[in-house]
Amino acid sequence: MATEPQTLQEAIVHFSNPDNCLNYIVARRWKNGVVCPTCGSKDVGFVASRRVWQCKTRHPKSQFTVKVGTVMEDSPIGLDKWLTVMWMVANCKNGVSSWEIHRSLGVTQKTAWFLLHRVRLAMQGQNAGKLGGGSGQVEVDETYIGGKARNMHKDRKARVLQGKGGGSVGKVGVQGSLERGGEVRLNVIRDSQYGTLVPNIRQNVAAGTHLFTDEASAYFDIGPEYAHDVINHAEAYAVGQIHTNGLENFWSLLKRNLSGTYVCVEPFHLFRYLDEQAFRYNNRKDMTDGDRFSALVSQIAGKRLTYQELTGKTGQEAEETRF
Ligand SMILES: [Zn+2]
Repeated sequence: MATEPQTLQEAIVHFSNPDNCLNYIVARRWKNGVVCPTCGSKDVGFVASRRVWQCKTRHPKSQFTVKVGTVMEDSPIGLDKWLTVMWMVANCKNGVSSWEIHRSLGVTQKTAWFLLHRVRLAMQGQNAGKLGGGSGQVEVDETYIGGKARNMHKDRKARVLQGKGGGSVGKVGVQGSLERGGEVRLNVIRDSQYGTLVPNIRQNVAAGTHLFTDEASAYFDIGPEYAHDVINHAEAYAVGQIHTNGLENFWSLLKRNLSGTYVCVEPFHLFRYLDEQAFRYNNRKDMTDGDRFSALVSQIAGKRLTYQELTGKTGQEAEETRF
């Protein structure tokens, strides 16, 4: 077996061979042998000439490719392009735009946009346990992203305004919990009330953890299950270890990517960009580009996103759009 790629250039060469693509994905998707995605049977035969498997149990869809049951299902785009896009998104710190994919891989921009959203779905968190616990220290903070409605196209503006129900036009709140030296968890929030912010903390952070927040009132009554220190940003950015600077840095990277690489992110799609950013952040330590790519490919199964789900487009319009 050829050595696994460690750079983008090696990846492109390696995955120009269809068998290398297949072997790489199979080794991560089916660590204990190929399983029929429809019935779960391990009694399957490989048809090498067509690179498909045949399930020995009789049922519809008894023949399947490696794409079935993954974010790649029903996509006519080749594995070589899929894997190259995954490499780029996993490893480009500032993200990759659909226009860059369009130019680099020779697919249409629309196809590239749909590809990217499915890669982001693959990046979605695996709920790898709560932050903190033990001596862990977790910063919690919110930020607001978006959205100058007056610069938007008319149709888009209508959708955005509809989605937000007026108020802070097109601005979307994001709450983050970041363990110092560890991982981040992100939630899109509809407001900054206690009932919105505190349940997210309970979901993301282990009880007993030392929390650091700003003086937002929602956090005053967080309760006895956390140790809690507050930095008053009107007075100082940090008092000793009391600060939220880790998250502030994360927010500035996020915003730089959103305004630089992704020129127009609609609020409706924001959580997908958050998944992407969190994936790269949470897979940053002691990992090579090859490791990060491998981690992403290991997460492609059991997830699907159709064009219709992504856009709300139905019928003829969706039919006419082939990717
Ligand atoms: Zn089967």
